[in-house]
Amino acid sequence: MTRIGLGFDSHRFGPGRALVLGGVKVEHSAGLAAHSDGDVVLHALADAIFGAIAAGDIGEHFPDTDPKWAGADSSIFVARALELASEAGYAVGNCDITILAEAPKLGPVKSALACNIAKLLKVPASDVSVKAKTAEGMGPIGQNEGIACYATVLLGK
Ligand code: MG
Repeated sequence: MTRIGLGFDSHRFGPGRALVLGGVKVEHSAGLAAHSDGDVVLHALADAIFGAIAAGDIGEHFPDTDPKWAGADSSIFVARALELASEAGYAVGNCDITILAEAPKLGPVKSALACNIAKLLKVPASDVSVKAKTAEGMGPIGQNEGIACYATVLLGK
C-alpha cells in the first residue's frame, strides 16, 4: 500500500535573516521572511507528508499566529508529519524536491541539502532527490523576490 503527497511553499526574501534550506544554512545576502525559520524546503516537505496521509496542512498543525512557533526550526514540522505518518503505519519510500530560486545558485549545496533531509526522514541519501531551477527571469521568483519549493513524497506501509 503506497500513498503519494505533494507539497508547495514560497517565501519572500527579508532582511536580517539567515537563509535556511532543507535544514542547512546557505550563504546568501538575505534570508526568507517568515514566522518560523522560513525554510521553504522543509515546509513543502512537511506538507507533502501531511498530504500523503490526508492529515491537513502545516498551517493547521503549526498556526503562524502561535508565538510558540516564532523562529522555529522547521525540522520540528517534518518530525511531526513523520510521526503522524508512522502512527498511520507508513514510512517514507522516497522524496523528490524541486527548489525554484534565481539566487543563490544552489547547485553547489544540493547534495548537502539532500543528505540533511535524508537524515530528517531517516532514509538513505539515495532516496532523496533535490533539484534546483531558476525561473528564467519570469515572475516574482524570476525577479528574485523570494524562493519557492515543490516536494513530492511516496509513503509505503
Ligand atoms: Mg512556509
